[in-house]
Amino acid sequence: MAKLSLRNVYKVYEGGVRAVSDFNLDIDDKEFVVFVGPSGCGKSTTLRMIAGLEEITSGDLYIDGVKVNDVEPKDRNIAMVFQNYALYPHMTVYKNMGFGLRLRKVPADEIDRRVRRAAEILGISDLLARKPKALSGGQRQRVALGRAIVREPNVFLLDEPLSNLDAKLRVAMRSEIIKLHKRLATTFVYVTHDQTEAMTMGDRIVVMKDGFIQQTDSPATLYEQPRNVFVATFLGSPQMNVFKARLEREGEKLFVAFGNGFKAEFPEIKAKQLSSVELIGGEVNFGIRPENIALTADGNAIPAVIDVVEHLGSETIVYAAVEGLESNIVVKTASDHSLVAGLKIALSFDMKNAHVFSVETGRAVMGVPEYNVLDCSLSGGRISFCGNDTELSEHLKERLFDFAERDCAKLYIPTDAVSLTEIPDSFEFDGKVEFTVSGSDSVSVFARIGGDERFVVRVKAADCKAGDKIRFFVPFRSISLISRDGVRLNGKEPVSENTAKCSVRTAGGVSMVKVGASTLKFDDLGVPDGEYMMKLSADKLGFCYDKKYARKNKLSLDDARGNVFVAKAYDEDKLGGGKNATYLSVGGFDNYVTAVLPDEFSVYKMPVFGLKISKDSFTLTKAD
Ligand code: ADP
Repeated sequence: MAKLSLRNVYKVYEGGVRAVSDFNLDIDDKEFVVFVGPSGCGKSTTLRMIAGLEEITSGDLYIDGVKVNDVEPKDRNIAMVFQNYALYPHMTVYKNMGFGLRLRKVPADEIDRRVRRAAEILGISDLLARKPKALSGGQRQRVALGRAIVREPNVFLLDEPLSNLDAKLRVAMRSEIIKLHKRLATTFVYVTHDQTEAMTMGDRIVVMKDGFIQQTDSPATLYEQPRNVFVATFLGSPQMNVFKARLEREGEKLFVAFGNGFKAEFPEIKAKQLSSVELIGGEVNFGIRPENIALTADGNAIPAVIDVVEHLGSETIVYAAVEGLESNIVVKTASDHSLVAGLKIALSFDMKNAHVFSVETGRAVMGVPEYNVLDCSLSGGRISFCGNDTELSEHLKERLFDFAERDCAKLYIPTDAVSLTEIPDSFEFDGKVEFTVSGSDSVSVFARIGGDERFVVRVKAADCKAGDKIRFFVPFRSISLISRDGVRLNGKEPVSENTAKCSVRTAGGVSMVKVGASTLKFDDLGVPDGEYMMKLSADKLGFCYDKKYARKNKLSLDDARGNVFVAKAYDEDKLGGGKNATYLSVGGFDNYVTAVLPDEFSVYKMPVFGLKISKDSFTLTKAD
């Protein structure tokens, strides 16, 4: 039994490989979560960080609310099963399963009880006396699972456990593991690159690419409402067809128009879900799954010619050429042996199951957005948006950078963070339901809020209908504030005061400012000699290379001249817009210092560096 929370977790390997970036996930007790994505996307790294086999570069990992970043793997009560099950060849199954417990000095009768129970759960009681070489692949995998079960862990981590098995056995073991999860009633985290495994096993699936989470959802929701082209095409076989097309409007009707002149109309319920009218007239990526295309004789259908056919027994896959489209359209249909290459056919799309993605960002632009993005203004610790005005929580205020006061910024509210019932530490505002859309295991509520802005939430069940007034509750912790030029205005760590005691002495037109062990020199600062508090402005600091790093990388040391504090960085926060927030320790400053630096500088590459101070970088106030 255990809940896991990963908060802003990053992994950067030595040499700068960013394996995992800003990984955020809450895993419920007894949940079965699958990480899926192409090879190298950071799945195993994340799993190994949970196990404690890999250090977390930045961010936090909690097990049952306790931060465990620095807890030894053996003290995390987690068991891991690997692809390569590495059984000891000279030991019997019984000894292989009990070995870990013996090392932990568990009494022999307790080992016996646990091994026999695990063997019974896995159906391998009659194999206990055998050695691994006398076992089949599937039996060996069961022994590897048994070795994890006997530890009675709170969390099972499984890293591609089935990929060494042949296809038939893989399918069989898949259902064994699902049953095992039910019997053990324990949290499972399972890594695979196989989308079928992910779709059939997970309560929830985390789709990853290049170290970033693309989407976390139930299998049904991922399939029905992919957030971007990557997720849309990664899940499903054959994969979703995606074509360049144009959105057109005629009166109230919305169409997708292809290069070949053909058009297909979206049903009203889909058309209403378009995120912005500005997309009309422009190019988009249009997506349609092979099973959502029918072969018809309908007059509006698109003419096509069959290029290749695959008869799979229960179904037939057709690859058809359509004039003006860059690649074949793939259609999945019921088994039909009259379909042969060269045959002229006509295709019609089930437009209520169509998808539309932005060409620039790849994000879905028709349906449930990942975030609701609203214009807002920030001033004096308050936020105004769509006719609402709210005091920010202390948690959020502490994390706002100096430059956050803005007449116009963007408020990002994750669609899934919003609740229709009261939740703690949240702000609330009213809206009016426009329409609702039901998915297999969720309901999306499309509403209008002040200023007639569209606002969407997705909930398990919604007790509302068009025209109803509803109230939204948004946890402060879930929101992001982004400037117009794409810079995050709130960090994940509190922004520090950046103050230090200093003394100023001026002689001969030069002011000497002593802070800790450093002395800075400026043209006359125009203040009387004495003791002051220096406050650094987070975004008016520069950086220069640490001498060692510069030498190693043959970089210029020239800019290291002038007023420089030696800074040791311990964490950073990506702000976007070419900026990072860096959290530093600097001699003389009580607490850490927050600096907003260009993102070409990364603390992971250069943990010690020079913080350049100019006259504009700080203010002085007389010390009491
Ligand atoms: P996946 O499990 O999704 O295949 P991994 O988590 O194994 O991906 O790897 C993610 C990225 O991190 C890859 O680019 C990989 O090359 C890199 N990587 C993994 N382990 C190490 C390591 N020990 N040192 C440096 N880079 C690594």
